Amino acid sequence: MHELSVCLALIEQVRRIAAERNAAEVSRIVLQVGPLSGVEAELLRNAYPLAAAGTVAENADLVIEAAAIVVSCGECGTESSASANRLLCAQCGGYRTRVVSGDEMILKSLELEKASGVGDTARDPEMERGPETQ
Ligand SMILES: [Zn+2]
Repeated sequence: MHELSVCLALIEQVRRIAAERNAAEVSRIVLQVGPLSGVEAELLRNAYPLAAAGTVAENADLVIEAAAIVVSCGECGTESSASANRLLCAQCGGYRTRVVSGDEMILKSLELEKASGVGDTARDPEMERGPETQ
């Protein structure tokens, strides 16, 4: 399932950031998902609890924002917004466009809860390993 592996990679990234900042818990994750990214927000939301279980992000609110599609025109050089099924230049109608944004998934922001008091979470070498994929 594609969305689960996307989620696992996301959690890995979130864990790394949380460890770097000595956070005890992640309270909120804001993602920006482009319509051309191939990631379904609803499936991502469903897969999230599975991927986050037992991690610092287990109780985090997952906020998914839709990103706009922006194309750059090869004819006139204009950057304009476009819809997913019609990637044309808004300026001249040219079809030789390049997608500037709208095909990515971005970790936009994280809200972290600091570890309180003693027991500072030291940087764990385990965190440095990449997602376990084969
Ligand atoms: Zn154009």
